[in-house]
Amino acid sequence: MLASAAAVAVAVTAAAPSAQTPATASAGTTAVHARQVKRLVIKNAMVIPGPATPAYGPIDILAEDGVIARMGNSADEHWPAPDAIVDATGKYVMPGIVNTHMHWHEERVGPLPIQYERNLYLASGVTTAREVGGNFEKTKQWRAESAAHTIVAPRIVLYPMLADLLEKNQTFNRTPAEHRALVQRAKDRGADGLKLIGPMDRDQVAATLDEAKKVGLPTTVHIAVGDATARDFVDLGVNCIEHFYGVADAALDGIQDFPPEMNYSNEIHRFGRAGELYIQNNFDHEKLSKLLDDMVAKGVAWSPTMSTYEAARDLVKAQNLPWYKDYLHPSVEDYYQPSMTRHGTFWIGWTATQEAKWRRNYRVWMDALLEFGRKGGTITTGDDAAYLYGSLYGFGVIRELELHEEAGFHPLEVLKHATVDGAKILGLSERLGRVRLGFIADLLVVNGNPLENLRVLNPYGTDLMSYNGQIVSNYSGIVKPGDPNVKMVHGGGIEWTIKDGIPYHVPTLMKEVKDMVNKARTERSRTTSQPQH
Ligand SMILES: [Zn+2]
Repeated sequence: MLASAAAVAVAVTAAAPSAQTPATASAGTTAVHARQVKRLVIKNAMVIPGPATPAYGPIDILAEDGVIARMGNSADEHWPAPDAIVDATGKYVMPGIVNTHMHWHEERVGPLPIQYERNLYLASGVTTAREVGGNFEKTKQWRAESAAHTIVAPRIVLYPMLADLLEKNQTFNRTPAEHRALVQRAKDRGADGLKLIGPMDRDQVAATLDEAKKVGLPTTVHIAVGDATARDFVDLGVNCIEHFYGVADAALDGIQDFPPEMNYSNEIHRFGRAGELYIQNNFDHEKLSKLLDDMVAKGVAWSPTMSTYEAARDLVKAQNLPWYKDYLHPSVEDYYQPSMTRHGTFWIGWTATQEAKWRRNYRVWMDALLEFGRKGGTITTGDDAAYLYGSLYGFGVIRELELHEEAGFHPLEVLKHATVDGAKILGLSERLGRVRLGFIADLLVVNGNPLENLRVLNPYGTDLMSYNGQIVSNYSGIVKPGDPNVKMVHGGGIEWTIKDGIPYHVPTLMKEVKDMVNKARTERSRTTSQPQH
């Protein structure tokens, strides 16, 4: 899959334990997939530190007991002998990515192996995943297993929705008192934070956020179209806003111009009209700026998840991404199909005009995000994958980075959103999200320079220019038109995703994903080729 990694992939795959059974061992010099060692040295790395400061190097990095213990020249400084080595010659090393908006799924249309998602996230550089709604007890168990390294998965941070905490058959009339009780239950049962989801009325928001502050749980919100807009959530003290809903509503003079036939339960109406929010005639930029100022002043972060909705602005592209061929699980493929009932699959009769409106909506949304960033706002990276076409686990995170660049951020700033800023909203900024001494050894060893092309982080890899066998910039002056030494090659990709100092070999993870997909496709064709009665 990744040209520069192919030889290593073959050698490592043969010896590597399967993703489901990570081993603990100490011997050996070349790092082995999913094998935990005491001292892992990464040699000759160009380092992207995280806080939007320039890359530097090459240097060596020692991860000892999962923490960055030394950075410098291992030979000159006589470091202790490592148990395993990752050779990063010609590669860039950056902090692991914090995905601030995701959901674990064990089924879409049909079962989905959880390891498929775990592998895809790790292969995309995600070492920390904030789940914002899911099966509470399962995610809690996976959080513990990931922390103990008994599963191959990113670190898990658990932000349940209140409805995830209801007992079986418990009614929920959404009174402020019930909201308070569920917040308390979330705290008692070990949540790391809370995900609120609209539409909510202002009194419900007030009770929930007040109680969350009392018990010490941070909060994030998917605002939706409700009585409470971003104005209310910001005033009442939410910590983070997901998507774009609510922010645009709060910037309107009056309300959205809903047509008479608007039915919020109709997914085509709901999603289609959402794309027209920022381009309404009564959109008031001053009001937006004031909201953004208040978000900055009160420390409210923004997790925009722009990649999630991208099919709405370019459906045909989203239906035909090149990595579907090998990596799209049939349960997700079936989920993506246009439907009147499944969440996010509102494509029946989707028009060019609707796409044009969404594209214009994105321009205003991106400008708002850039303004927020320039004012000092905290922006994070989330993919909210496997609802809308195109947004596939992990791939969506890398696409999100590209969209942050499109919004106007420098690639160094984009990577800061994905690392330093993600760690910050999780309250982990003092030990996660940077390549820095004493920080958790969550590190990505990348085939190429993401500052030159963020797409090299895509687990599918990307097409690159090769000149006399060397990867060069296609703007390079040494390349002359017609030169026969120029070739297009497929390369890039992360080579190793290191979490808590444990190296995960990305080509191996992707090979496992491909095998899972092939197996599921074979099983489907077997069951669907039976004669129908
Ligand atoms: Zn979501």
